[in-house]
Amino acid sequence: MATGAKIARNIRPLSEYRNEAHRCIRCGMCRMTNPDFVASHKYSDNCPRGTRHMFESFFGSGIYEIARALTADPPELEVNDRLKQIIWTCTVCGNCQDTCNAIKGLEPANTMMALREFLVRKGVSPFKEHEGLVKSIINYDNPWLSPRATRGKWARKLKDIEIKDASKEKVEVL
Ligand code: SF4
Ligand code: SF4
Repeated sequence: MATGAKIARNIRPLSEYRNEAHRCIRCGMCRMTNPDFVASHKYSDNCPRGTRHMFESFFGSGIYEIARALTADPPELEVNDRLKQIIWTCTVCGNCQDTCNAIKGLEPANTMMALREFLVRKGVSPFKEHEGLVKSIINYDNPWLSPRATRGKWARKLKDIEIKDASKEKVEVL
């Protein structure tokens, strides 16, 4: 079974991924899971945001085109709210990379990470909606907008299900 490259821990500079952009042939395979691994093509859509928006920019190939255009001299794209939406709605799930890396050796998801780093270093912040998450991380050490002490609150509603306390007894599922 062929598997693509994992999301890199050490993301290379965007300029290096830019060179790969010219090897993207717009085949569209990054939009789907390898057909050998799904029972029917109707299950093959693999890009959450691309499937939602159905526009080229939201797929793996779009990542390369945006990277190429932003690093052109002079840049061929203006950084506006629409572009930020396209860039920050990627879940960086790596599905596009899993397919593309096996057939073309490219890394669209890693390129997305480099793209974000490139913009943040230029002082371009993410969405206004992210501001609450940033505050939550500063205040609570997590992005869930509530303190750690309330983390298990949801479980209190499950009165009919016996839930073991893993800190006190051995459990099979954590
Ligand atoms: S990113 Fe890869 S799979 Fe997607 S269109 Fe380009 S070459 Fe094809
Ligand atoms: S990493 Fe982004 S572009 Fe690639 S499949 Fe996931 S959501 Fe789509």
